[in-house]
Amino acid sequence: MTAGPGLAAAGQDGSGFDPLIAERRYLSPGLALAHRFAGGGAWEVSSAGAWVTLSDGRRLLDFGSYGVCLLGHRHPAVVAAVSEQLHRLPASTRSLASEPAPRLAERLTGYFAPGPLRRCWFGLNGADAVELALKLARASTGRPRVIAATGAFHGKTLGALSVTWHPRYRGLVEDYLPPATHVDPGDLARLERELSAGDVAALILEPVQGEGGVVPVPPDVVIAWGELAARHGAHFIADEIQAGLYRAGAMSLAHEFGAPLSAVLLGKALGGGVAPISAVIGTEELFAPLLRDPFWHSMTFGGHPLSAAAALGALDALDALPGREARAAAVAGLLAELAAEHPGMIKEVRGRGFMWGIELRSARQAGSLLAELPLAGLVVSPCLGQPEVIRLLPPAILSDDELGTARARLRAALQAAYTESAPEGALV
Ligand code: PLP
Repeated sequence: MTAGPGLAAAGQDGSGFDPLIAERRYLSPGLALAHRFAGGGAWEVSSAGAWVTLSDGRRLLDFGSYGVCLLGHRHPAVVAAVSEQLHRLPASTRSLASEPAPRLAERLTGYFAPGPLRRCWFGLNGADAVELALKLARASTGRPRVIAATGAFHGKTLGALSVTWHPRYRGLVEDYLPPATHVDPGDLARLERELSAGDVAALILEPVQGEGGVVPVPPDVVIAWGELAARHGAHFIADEIQAGLYRAGAMSLAHEFGAPLSAVLLGKALGGGVAPISAVIGTEELFAPLLRDPFWHSMTFGGHPLSAAAALGALDALDALPGREARAAAVAGLLAELAAEHPGMIKEVRGRGFMWGIELRSARQAGSLLAELPLAGLVVSPCLGQPEVIRLLPPAILSDDELGTARARLRAALQAAYTESAPEGALV
């Protein structure tokens, strides 16, 4: 008998365990429903390269994973680095030094040398990095307020949430968030007015907004944010947790543009799709409170040996990846082609490198496309704060064949979604 959606409930090990049922019962009914919808009743059981295999035997091409799998799944260099560390020193006493985190700090600061970004700190999630950057900015300037961009997403812990824009996430706790102001990234006059109040510790900006709808910020605006911050004694923090590490074409776009920087934040793909890790790479001035007292901010698992080893393996693999730019150009070409073929569905495709948004003409069309894509065999990430936009975060290791498969699957899903979401009678 072949495995099919009906068999999914039997579990992989024959135990009858169904993660969707357990998820609904013990974790979250809403999340279980979303997962059931995306997997058609099946769940992910294994992965390799650009592919994820489901419990019913289907294989989906992964253009999602919220930006983590830039190197695909189980990249050999990352798996080897983590395995080696796992069998030697998987956990740190933390009372003693170990190799991986200092090596990684040396490696990461090297991308920004010569220059003032000479200090590193490691967390696990992106929000950890945002939290520390904002805490350092306030402590090093003695100023309370932070300015972020409208549409920004920086995470959901209280400090990070204070600079995340969408009311959906801020709701219920708005009153408990540290002081922050959101301004349109292109409204430099307003930015300057806010800075003139003299109470701003930092500006924080995503050079390409991700969750907010994949919106690349023009290089001159990124530079202007950095220059205005510097002129008014505030820090400029580039949040490249999603767009950095070559996802959007550069290790750090803000650095490549030449913006004056106090910190670059990295996360997501930094762990090579295998382990969780995030980083703040910053100036001595920003890090001053932590340089005075190293225990002023720490986390039990920050700089974990397995995570740092994964990051070192990932950086080796990314730096050695041949044809990255040509592959990114092929992804851009494919999306332009599909947009030209489906003007009734696609309003715009935008992005850079391996980070793209397809903006549909309505949220309803986006919903239909989101439903059709996994059926056609492609995993993507929605933009929770911008429902008309679907995020495509393909791995940089795609082969030409896989790119061809992605084209065929996207085309099939667009066609099905168009038929499904068109107003009645429109297609006759
Ligand atoms: N900053 C940016 C730009 C992000 O895209 C994200 C997550 O999507 C975060 C911060 C928060 O990262 P995490 O979800 O790992 O806490």
